[in-house]
Amino acid sequence: NAPLSEVDPEIAEVLDRELNRQRTFLEMIASENFVPVSVLQSQGSVLTNKYAEGYPGRRYYGGCEEVDVAESLAIERVKALFGAEFANVQPHSGATANAAVMHAIARPGDTLLGLSLDHGGHLTHGMKINFSGRLYDIVAYGVDPETSLVDMDEVRRLALEHKPKVIVAGWSAYPRQLDFAKFREIADEVGAYLWVDMAHFAGLVAAGLHPNPVPHAHVVSSTVHKTIGGPRSGFILSNDPDVAKKINSAVFPGQQGGPLMHVIAAKATAFKLAGTPEFKERQQRTLSGASILADRLTQQDVKDAGIAVRSGGTDVHLVLVDLRDAAIDGKQAEDLLHDIHITVNRNAVPNDPRPPMVTSGLRIGTAALATRGFGDAEFTEVADIIALALLPGADVEALKARVDALAGAFPLYPDLQQ
Ligand code: PLP
Repeated sequence: NAPLSEVDPEIAEVLDRELNRQRTFLEMIASENFVPVSVLQSQGSVLTNKYAEGYPGRRYYGGCEEVDVAESLAIERVKALFGAEFANVQPHSGATANAAVMHAIARPGDTLLGLSLDHGGHLTHGMKINFSGRLYDIVAYGVDPETSLVDMDEVRRLALEHKPKVIVAGWSAYPRQLDFAKFREIADEVGAYLWVDMAHFAGLVAAGLHPNPVPHAHVVSSTVHKTIGGPRSGFILSNDPDVAKKINSAVFPGQQGGPLMHVIAAKATAFKLAGTPEFKERQQRTLSGASILADRLTQQDVKDAGIAVRSGGTDVHLVLVDLRDAAIDGKQAEDLLHDIHITVNRNAVPNDPRPPMVTSGLRIGTAALATRGFGDAEFTEVADIIALALLPGADVEALKARVDALAGAFPLYPDLQQ
């Protein structure tokens, strides 16, 4: 039982260097966040040792009395948080949650109508070589090329034409809110299930700052690690008793064996924290930071450089930057921001003229920095740094010094030593 630094110094060094990277860079990947130390404690705990196939009170293994308590707490807390009658907290990730949803409500060969990947959808919503694209017949809707918004008339037209078994509403790169009521109306009109994947915006929903899809959808899936800021994992909610029953058997034994009980305990803690006033205040700073960023990136100096903000702004925790008319492409912009210690990811824009490894866009999120403590003043400074970095002739050293000052003023995990 020697410590990691003795047993495996190479991995210990990876952990050290990664902690240092997270401390010294500004994290603006829209799907990332920082978990609290309390969540790290559960994830690094003895619960990782426990097999617990089944559900609380109905396990296929002995010795589950303590993990039953943890899973029941996670279930009750997430149900209360989102006003759901049913929750399954066992999915290992967002992608496995989504696979379980489809396994529960569709058969291979059934039609799934979802937002296409290059318009902001997720791999699991029908990408060709993902399980979704291989098992199901995919029809994709897109965003309007002018407004960058989902065109509900097109969704309805495609639904009437293709009569899908499932319509999925949800996104990985979309800066506005979806109309869940309208999606449900269309689903009802064609006899489809409505599945909402709220992986990105779940934290905003939990804080009451974004419409809640649960009352509208037959089933809702999510991750826990994006805006919620909990452990890397997934969960599924439903208010439909028939769907709920199918979800439980689709997750186990349909898809997974033993649940990750250390992660489920960490989910319980994350859901508890998500019900607090501090969490709501953090989500407010997240939203405010994203609009500050969108405002700065629509000012004249940025526009003059051919840089645009898709949809002209944001209602959520991210901004999508369109570089199709700029001198710089997505890959160059991502690398340049990395050089000044800001981490973002390049992102394709609809009908992107550049290949997927290059792209003509950026996706920039504010959730992780809000968790780090950033408020309007810091987001104003970050927004200005990003704007200046993207303009031709950026002074990389000067901008990096401004980033270093911000990172230094907001220490991350100050008491943590690997
Ligand atoms: N659903 C959406 C909308 C996502 O954006 C993502 C992740 O990016 C997922 C599902 C998948 O989550 P995971 O990476 O945990 O499998």
